[in-house]
Amino acid sequence: MQNRPYASLVERLKQHGLRPTRQRLALARLLFASGDRHVTAEQLHGEALAADVRVSLATIYNTLHQFTNAGLLREVVVEPGRSYFDTNTSDHHHFFHEQGGQLEDIPGDQVRLAELPSPPSGTSIRRVDVIVRIRAS
Ligand SMILES: [Zn+2]
Repeated sequence: MQNRPYASLVERLKQHGLRPTRQRLALARLLFASGDRHVTAEQLHGEALAADVRVSLATIYNTLHQFTNAGLLREVVVEPGRSYFDTNTSDHHHFFHEQGGQLEDIPGDQVRLAELPSPPSGTSIRRVDVIVRIRAS
């Protein structure tokens, strides 16, 4: 039994205001077991099925959005309808490999923005996400 990693995941979910249901725990384990990563809902669904965790793709989407709203994940939208979920929630940016379709982290301090527009009245800028799209030359 791997009680310890499971116990810390229970704590992590609770700290972020999420009830540690069996399904959430199973998905959290898949997501957070191997360091920083970027996964799509479809990839996680495939991993869940391979690990004998029986969940629908709709449940995967719901859980990923719950984790994102709770601050456990960051959603990176690379194209309309195409999102990656990032287990690294610190401020950073991304290279997007257009051909292979993977994201690669760029440390936050390696992108310097010279000027930003003023946000619409009544709003403030919360974060700026830069996606640098690359392809083999
Ligand atoms: Zn990232």
